[in-house]
Amino acid sequence: MAGAAKAVAIAHGVTRLTAPNPGPMTGAGTNSYFVGEDRLALIDPGPDLDAHVDALVAHADGRLDAILVTHTHRDHSPAAAAVAARTGAAVYGMLPPATLENDAAFAPDTVLEHEHSVTVGGHEIVAIHTPGHASNHVCFLHKATGILFTGDHIMNGSTVVIAAPDGNMRAYLDSLALLKHYAPQTIAPGHGEPLLEPERAIDWIIAHRLEREAKVVEKLAALAPATIDALLPQVYDEVDPALWPIARYSLRAHLEKLLEEGRAQCTETEWTLVAD
Ligand SMILES: [Zn+2]
Repeated sequence: MAGAAKAVAIAHGVTRLTAPNPGPMTGAGTNSYFVGEDRLALIDPGPDLDAHVDALVAHADGRLDAILVTHTHRDHSPAAAAVAARTGAAVYGMLPPATLENDAAFAPDTVLEHEHSVTVGGHEIVAIHTPGHASNHVCFLHKATGILFTGDHIMNGSTVVIAAPDGNMRAYLDSLALLKHYAPQTIAPGHGEPLLEPERAIDWIIAHRLEREAKVVEKLAALAPATIDALLPQVYDEVDPALWPIARYSLRAHLEKLLEEGRAQCTETEWTLVAD
């Protein structure tokens, strides 16, 4: 039985409470962040677990004005309704896509658009639309500190899954490049500890994904026509087979990126490269 979440100060006016939902996909659990002092914004209320909702409401202590949601996967948005009901805070986020992994009940008071700005107690927070992990994903930039709250777009210590049809590898890489324009000072991820060198972290992720893509192309050239299941152990040969079911989503996302770019084609089940 996990005790009450400990509030961890990330920066002046920014505090983290981690939900008690640790796991292979969630690391130590989902990070919920409070921004502000006299009045507060809450970024990612997390899963609707009583202990977590109680901890959030207790920490807010009558000061909560806004609940901001990065995306509607079930470990990020479901507590929004319970926290809003107990605090009267307004909920902001993009609408959930109609796919299974989404919290279909999520109903924001304000539907966010790219660069929508929310100010709570003098703290301005800007939403940046970052599709890729999820089509309705936004990151939040806290203007005063330069902290970028990245939800599941950038995590620390667990794998970002890009799963079709809602996930899209091409969009994911474009969104990473976009974030660099905002010159964040620190990344506060939805799972794991802060990343203190954002530009380096972003460049590393882009390079890592493109390296994997190059391996997909190499193995496809050798094996084509090939099914995803034939490619999987080849493309992820250095990865623990226990993780292949998860890697399979990313492999499909890489192949679909190549398809979108006219570099690969597929029949029902088999993939081939398009000759240059
Ligand atoms: Zn997610």
